[in-house]
Amino acid sequence: MSDPIIQLTGIHAAYRHGRQRVTALDGVDLTVEHGEIFGLLGPNGAGKTTLLSILEGLLRPDRGRVTLDGIDVLAAPAEAKRRLGIQLQRSALIDDLTVAELVHLYSSLYEVEMSKAQVDELLARFDLADKVRSFARRLSGGQQQRLALALAVANDPPIVLLDEPTSALDPRARRAMWDIIRRLHTEGRTILLTTHAMEEAEALCSRVAIIDRGQIVACDTPAALIDQIDVRPILKAVIEVPLDRVAPLPGVRAARYTGQHLEVETAEPQVTLAALHQLAAEHGRRVGDVAIRPPNLEDVFLKLTGRSLG
Ligand code: ATP
Repeated sequence: MSDPIIQLTGIHAAYRHGRQRVTALDGVDLTVEHGEIFGLLGPNGAGKTTLLSILEGLLRPDRGRVTLDGIDVLAAPAEAKRRLGIQLQRSALIDDLTVAELVHLYSSLYEVEMSKAQVDELLARFDLADKVRSFARRLSGGQQQRLALALAVANDPPIVLLDEPTSALDPRARRAMWDIIRRLHTEGRTILLTTHAMEEAEALCSRVAIIDRGQIVACDTPAALIDQIDVRPILKAVIEVPLDRVAPLPGVRAARYTGQHLEVETAEPQVTLAALHQLAAEHGRRVGDVAIRPPNLEDVFLKLTGRSLG
């Protein structure tokens, strides 16, 4: 097998707030193989962006080793950077340039000369063919996000880093973005993305590292992560009853409220549901909007950290 395309070993990183030190990464080891779509899944402040900043050579870790395609990022940052496509935050797009001007500017930063035909072809791949002469500020959120991705691959990099590529997109634009990420992958690129949406990690990623408070708490395929935690199906229902009355019901292994819904992990969904109906009746309530779902990565995170992702 070839060497990993991304490797971080023993990474520690901290930020300074005056006299205080905030630990952002606390002994991270991570390996991404060629051709993976790899997800870093974790809540706000977990350390995901810090990890990407280290790969991009923007932040020097206090300790540890980082390689991209076998190149030591700390020793040869410029050479390492040539392997990378980085998606800009949308706010970093320069408003007063047209889409085509931005592509030329961005590719020239990587010392890549692009002809007009190449620019047109790149933009067509990102469904922006009719936006060549539009100003970036006139694009919709989804279009700006796609433009940021087009810019990320203007230098044809083998590795693409995406920091929350679909945050703030509506469901339709989000799915369009997933298709584009899959396309970048089938072109032979390795993708590392961050997300706090477990359904995104499940939909896209061959492997996922769950990161919490600067540490990787689990790393595997989504299916294996879900298998390992031994969680039973989750019964969801809208019902207002005290949690301490739900816990002793038959079959119940765990219970919590998420928004309006009660979520009950149960070994016997039908038996638990019947008991819930009875409990609701005792409180003069009804059980509504019942569904049974299989366990997902949110449950993995909850089991491993005792907290929810969101
Ligand atoms: P989010 O999903 O909110 O982007 P994240 O997982 O990317 O979160 P980081 O941005 O890497 O998390 O933050 C990790 C920790 O480092 C947090 O405690 C955060 O408050 C802190 N931190 C991040 N950037 C800075 C900074 N520039 N100065 C000081 N502390 C920072």
